[in-house]
Amino acid sequence: MKLVTFSIGSAAHVGCLVGEVVVDLTSAAPTMKTLIEGGAPLLAKAGEVLKSAPRFPLNSIRLLAPIPNPSKVLCCGINYRSHAEENPNAVMPSEPFFFAKLPSSVIGPDDPIPYPPRTAQLDYEVEFAAVIGKQLRRAQEEDVMSAVFGYTLLNDVSARDVQFKDNQITLGKNFDGFAPIGPCIVTTDELSRPDAIGLRTRLNGRLLQNGSTSDWLFSLPRIIASLSQVMTLQPGDIVTTGTPAGVGFFQKPQVFMHPGDVIEIEGDVIGTLRNTIAA
Ligand code: MG
Repeated sequence: MKLVTFSIGSAAHVGCLVGEVVVDLTSAAPTMKTLIEGGAPLLAKAGEVLKSAPRFPLNSIRLLAPIPNPSKVLCCGINYRSHAEENPNAVMPSEPFFFAKLPSSVIGPDDPIPYPPRTAQLDYEVEFAAVIGKQLRRAQEEDVMSAVFGYTLLNDVSARDVQFKDNQITLGKNFDGFAPIGPCIVTTDELSRPDAIGLRTRLNGRLLQNGSTSDWLFSLPRIIASLSQVMTLQPGDIVTTGTPAGVGFFQKPQVFMHPGDVIEIEGDVIGTLRNTIAA
């Protein structure tokens, strides 16, 4: 299923995207987190509800971030060979490294990304993200994939001048609106090969990133297992997997985003996550 969180008026609902229609799954689960925590039995119930539930044309509702308030968003740093190679300062990592995006930076499809006055280098990064489905603590690589609920996209929006000013990338990655997530969560039964997904970024229609998760340095099981050695991963937590080559900072000449721009990140199976840059 392609699961979404959407609003009609002020109320948030869980839905299933079927073509250009959103089917309301509220009678199965009030929130995406409830649906995730309910596991296979609740997904089966959602499948039943799907047959008779109210449906809305996609263009009549507003999509929200699939998980509007995740407890954690953890991001893998350099994890594509192509991105490591385009960065003259990058050392090819021997193990995955991580940083966090805070829940306060999460926004949804079509939401504006506020342009921060503190940056002159607003950049994009298309990232394939896993949504954790079951609690994981000190897990082994061979055990983690059965705890993944599904997959979505995250735009790891970055203020490069703030990010590179010191060794702390937290600030440059966490301005309000710097974590657009969506448009949907594709459950694992519909996306069985996370390591073979094409990813693209378009800025005002211009193709700037065009990669594939087959270029990963570290596998998804490796990434999730390493995080779980440190912290307990909870249902609804989001784990991203780095970005392929083509970020604006390493384009020649450099490309940055400005108010009025439209930034789209796209992934096979998952779809397109579009946001605008607001003044
Ligand atoms: Mg990134």
